[in-house]
Amino acid sequence: MLASERRWAGRFRWMMGGSRMLLQAARLSVIDYSRAMVRDGLTVGTSGNVSAREGQHIAITPTGVAYDELTPDMITVIDMDGNRVDGSLKPSSEVPMHLLVYRETDARAVVHTHPLYATALGLIADETPLVHYTLAMCGGPVRVAPYATYGTPELAEKVRAAMAGRSAVLLRNHGATSWGASLNDAYTKSVYLEWTCRLWFVARSVGDPHLLNAMEFRDAADKIADYGRQDDC
Ligand code: 13P
Ligand code: ZN
Repeated sequence: MLASERRWAGRFRWMMGGSRMLLQAARLSVIDYSRAMVRDGLTVGTSGNVSAREGQHIAITPTGVAYDELTPDMITVIDMDGNRVDGSLKPSSEVPMHLLVYRETDARAVVHTHPLYATALGLIADETPLVHYTLAMCGGPVRVAPYATYGTPELAEKVRAAMAGRSAVLLRNHGATSWGASLNDAYTKSVYLEWTCRLWFVARSVGDPHLLNAMEFRDAADKIADYGRQDDC
């Protein structure tokens, strides 16, 4: 089937059967954020994956499908054991990593990308240098998980070791993964993480970047916890 035919078939199935779908709103958000990853330059082609959890179910992008082709029925719904409970396509190969994050944290969304600067940093460092206080959004300097083949339980295990106290990890020779209370939260962390890594490379290309010390970073981390709150104005 041509890509355009697949798109129309998906839209038709969605219109006819949409009201019976599990996690309808989550599926639509997963599509929105997976398209944003490509639009914002956080990943290329079909790389990366996005998921959102509701109760014991997870809506996740299918493996290897172009994001602009996605329709809600193509988003797979799995349970917390990784069994497919709805959706017409095979789920992302990174189900083990997404499940690990949901089991280990109270995250409601996971975003995995292949961003240029964050991935490059993971090739030459073990964690993100403290170049900017917004790293506090991810819980501190983001660690690099050692390399393992994509989509394997071994990769998920390496992520487990690197995630303590953080809400993002870098994956050596691979990419980045972030999580949070919502898709917007998880996605925003991915954007800030990539920006921070890019900042480091830009500074590094012309000099030796100044880093925040632990106390400066802790002060900013305390403050950023209330960032954007309007209740005391
Ligand atoms: P999927 O298309 O299977 O989600 O894989 C993309 C990817 O980034 C694997 O790490
Ligand atoms: Zn990947």
